[in-house]
Amino acid sequence: MTTLSADKIITPAEIPLCEPQFAGNEWAYIKSCLDDNWVSSVGPFVNRFEAQCAQIAGTSYGVATVNGTAALHAALLVAGVQSGEEVITSSLTFIATANAIRYIGAAPVFIDAEPTYWQMNVQLLEDFLQEECVVTSQGCLNRKSGRLVRAIVPVHVHGHPVDMDRLMELAASYRLIVIEDATEALGSSYSDKPAGGIGHIGCFSFNGNKLITTGGGGMIVTNDPALAQAAKHLTTQAKCGNAEYIHDQLGYNYRMPNILAALGCAQLEQLDAFIRRKRSIAARYNEFFANHLGFTPQGTAPKAISNCWLYAVRVDRAKTGFSARELISRLAQKGIQSRPLWQPMHLSQVHKDYQFVGTGVASDLYENVVSLPCSTGLSNAQQDQVLSVIEAILEQ
Ligand SMILES: *Cc1c(COP(=O)(O)O)cnc(C)c1O
Repeated sequence: MTTLSADKIITPAEIPLCEPQFAGNEWAYIKSCLDDNWVSSVGPFVNRFEAQCAQIAGTSYGVATVNGTAALHAALLVAGVQSGEEVITSSLTFIATANAIRYIGAAPVFIDAEPTYWQMNVQLLEDFLQEECVVTSQGCLNRKSGRLVRAIVPVHVHGHPVDMDRLMELAASYRLIVIEDATEALGSSYSDKPAGGIGHIGCFSFNGNKLITTGGGGMIVTNDPALAQAAKHLTTQAKCGNAEYIHDQLGYNYRMPNILAALGCAQLEQLDAFIRRKRSIAARYNEFFANHLGFTPQGTAPKAISNCWLYAVRVDRAKTGFSARELISRLAQKGIQSRPLWQPMHLSQVHKDYQFVGTGVASDLYENVVSLPCSTGLSNAQQDQVLSVIEAILEQ
């Protein structure tokens, strides 16, 4: 039998980049699903997981989904974004954000990152809206493309929130809906407001490498009862009522199974401990890099509290003597997994034909940033091992 490349079994690194940890009630809750026969798309854990995620985001409603990409797709649909309209988002993001926009036939407009915190550059966003857009009776019009701009999807990269104070002001002036891609930012906040609950809709992901995992899963959160109801309906095949198979819309089977929500409930009980561990790992890396020339970690904005989901540092080759890519391969030789950032969306073969507003920060970060091991289960000894490899390369 030949194995397709997507199914290739990867030999795990001795020190992986970002692995999940199951140290709580995971087994017990999953067993109760099997014992009670509640394994599928409705069940007590789904309700509980939705309520708990909504509470963390400071919202009234949560709608669990099959993954974060589905959450983004459904959020854009219930927000009323139409095919042929435009949606502003970050160029520096995982491709799922841009894909979700494209699924509905909308056109992304990519905003560059700012160099300190690596988030959507809100000044560039303002420049774009001021110089290229005008508010009409139909909404915000991009004068160059002739298309209506309907929404902004800011991405909280690595769990560090975008400047949501300014972004929400701009959104209000230009009549734009805000859908937070908070997939990496569960437990983060900006100006004391929880990430995911600041915009009109927020989306989380519980993929295996995220802060908490359900194996695969996502969540839509909102304070708007109509949006929440629409999201639940759309992700449940737009089925009307319980008894009959009658549907009033083109719906999706995007629901999260109870068995996965059980995993999520158990993981949520450890959220505070996970965040504490992530912060302590970040603090130890920061201390090391503060004492070594040529490294600039992702910064933390004054009003931001990050869950420190993924640790990353920019390598200045002129000072260190090696590039980010060289560092990645040297670490790999020692069994240590590290990664570059995502290829910016405006450079992606899939999305390069869409408008980009920027100066080249995202591509600089793509070139020069390395993400380092930061699993919640990473021990101090393992982290020291990572740092001693970096130290040794520096000495050569
Ligand atoms: C993980 C992630 C997603 C998608 O979530 P999935 O659960 O993998 O579908 C979307 N956007 C960003 C920025 C992500 O990191």
